[in-house]
Amino acid sequence: MAAQEELELDTLEGVGPVTKQKLEESGIYTIMDLAARGVGEVAEAINGDSAKATELINKARAKLSELGILSKDFVSAKELFKKRQSIERITTGAKSLDDLLGGGVETGAVTEFYGEFGSGKSQVCHTLSVTVQLPKDQGGLEAGAIYVDTEGTFRPERIAEISEARGLDPAKILDNIIVAKAYNSAHQELIIREVGRQIESSKVKLVIVDSAVAHYRAEFLGRGTLAERQQRLNRFMHQILRIAEVYGIAMVVTNQVQSSPDFFFGDPTRATGGHVVAHTSTYRIYLRKAAKSRIARMVDSPYHPEREVVFVIDNKGVDDPSEDMPKRRGGS
Ligand code: ATP
Ligand code: MG
Repeated sequence: MAAQEELELDTLEGVGPVTKQKLEESGIYTIMDLAARGVGEVAEAINGDSAKATELINKARAKLSELGILSKDFVSAKELFKKRQSIERITTGAKSLDDLLGGGVETGAVTEFYGEFGSGKSQVCHTLSVTVQLPKDQGGLEAGAIYVDTEGTFRPERIAEISEARGLDPAKILDNIIVAKAYNSAHQELIIREVGRQIESSKVKLVIVDSAVAHYRAEFLGRGTLAERQQRLNRFMHQILRIAEVYGIAMVVTNQVQSSPDFFFGDPTRATGGHVVAHTSTYRIYLRKAAKSRIARMVDSPYHPEREVVFVIDNKGVDDPSEDMPKRRGGS
């Protein structure tokens, strides 16, 4: 991590006291904050000058590349490979699901779990908030979590149960999970804008948004509002991807599926955000219920083969199926 002084806004050329104050009034305090924002937001902060906003963001990103926090614009594949080897992973609690993800949920990326109600999305999120705190040799990152709860389904009791079942001290585990309730999409966006500072001040390596899409879906009903919904959702998804990159944290989002009557082939469900979510999530995992267990499928990954694994939900949260259950299913 770079020294705090190196990340001060006024170390950037073009940021005088007035600009600095304006940025701070919009919650942008450091170069990391600046690099994590979109042009529209930064322009809004500095009186609508989008050319200057773009310039400032580019300078911020260049500075972060210099400091080794972000990759440069042009890098050799070897360098990229090295950078990817520095990616850390958080165990999901089940070996099968970890395997599917190539070792667990990645830092610096957005991982989306989508599926029907009751498919286990929130259970995965609860479990990850515990496992991120485990020592590194047990699949954790020895760090805390931020849980953005948009549906009012976060349950501290469940965290306590999962912790106890895993032989951990529930009080300590609960202490390292920061919960933010989002009441509507605008509030959700506001919380995400503040998340950078929380990550910096507490030791956080995992940010969860459960669910990323629910508020947008509830607020923008009908065909006439679809374009606006997709635009807002698009902005939100890009924002969280930048946060994952800039702060090097794992971003996990959930997404409901809706049945669509005009879909006759394959699985009669699709993720709500449509193409917007699909194109910004780095990894997408489709969850579904099957008898006593759950099935997870990796969809559209840049490098994982598309296949399915089985896991269960029990008092430990996400867990491996018992020996007598099949561990793997064929491809899709
Ligand atoms: P929604 O779209 O409604 O938010 P979801 O995908 O988030 O749904 P979850 O809340 O993760 O769904 O899953 C709920 C299911 O998890 C329950 O129906 C139950 O089967 C299982 N579950 C929850 N707690 C336990 C527990 N302590 N032990 C075993 N299974 C549990
Ligand atoms: Mg849920």
